[in-house]
Amino acid sequence: MHLSRGAYYADFFVLPIVGLALAGGSLFRANLVQSLIWGIICLSGVVTWTLLEYVLHRYVLHHVPGFEQMHDAHHADPLASVGAPIWVTLPMLCLCGLLPLWWPVGFLQASGLTTGWCSAIFGTSLSIMRAIAGTLTTAPTSIAGSAATPNTTRPRMDGTSA
Ligand SMILES: [Zn+2]
Repeated sequence: MHLSRGAYYADFFVLPIVGLALAGGSLFRANLVQSLIWGIICLSGVVTWTLLEYVLHRYVLHHVPGFEQMHDAHHADPLASVGAPIWVTLPMLCLCGLLPLWWPVGFLQASGLTTGWCSAIFGTSLSIMRAIAGTLTTAPTSIAGSAATPNTTRPRMDGTSA
């Protein structure tokens, strides 16, 4: 989905606020053990979201009709503001993580997992932003530099220089 610049960069402001609010709401009255449990669950949220994102990207965004066409716009123009808007991401996080876990396991655990997911999405958005910024600032130089001055000091597998 093509987004406005504001909608595209909203992840950078909304997700940290939501994560900090969930952390504050959970850890405000938590003891040390509860805080450690929250931290472990939060880290597991980062790991599970990273794996889930990989699976979604590989199998849903590249193979499921409808999603595939929307995702093709991102690959056709990686620098364009194409992505999921925060008004889709945030309700999905609440409906798939926070709310279904809150009742059976409690707010502490549900907020830990959701904060981990927010952190992972924020991290992914940040790395995409850095990749775009790197592409914009270094691509012409690195392409010209690699053609004009090949790296002759890189070590080879046999230990000598190329
Ligand atoms: Zn893709």
